[in-house]
Amino acid sequence: MTLRTLTPAELSTLLVRLSERVSIVGEGFVGLRCDGDLMQTRRILESLGKTPGEVRWIVAELREVGGYCDCEVLQNLGAGDPDDDPDELA
Ligand SMILES: [Zn+2]
Repeated sequence: MTLRTLTPAELSTLLVRLSERVSIVGEGFVGLRCDGDLMQTRRILESLGKTPGEVRWIVAELREVGGYCDCEVLQNLGAGDPDDDPDELA
């Protein structure tokens, strides 16, 4: 998954921190605590130094790729690339 609004490193940091916050148990992403919004995602982005304007753009892009809430961001952006292996170089 490549985003226009986040570098691969930032995306990877976001997903790691998000999984720490919303995962209930460590078996894959079976147990997720989700409020149905992107509050945790927004907080993590702010902690990465993103401005409110940047957070708005990033959230818009996350929704484009199917991340309408914290757990969907994890499931739709985190799946299938667990160790960030750069074997899909364009
Ligand atoms: Zn959710």
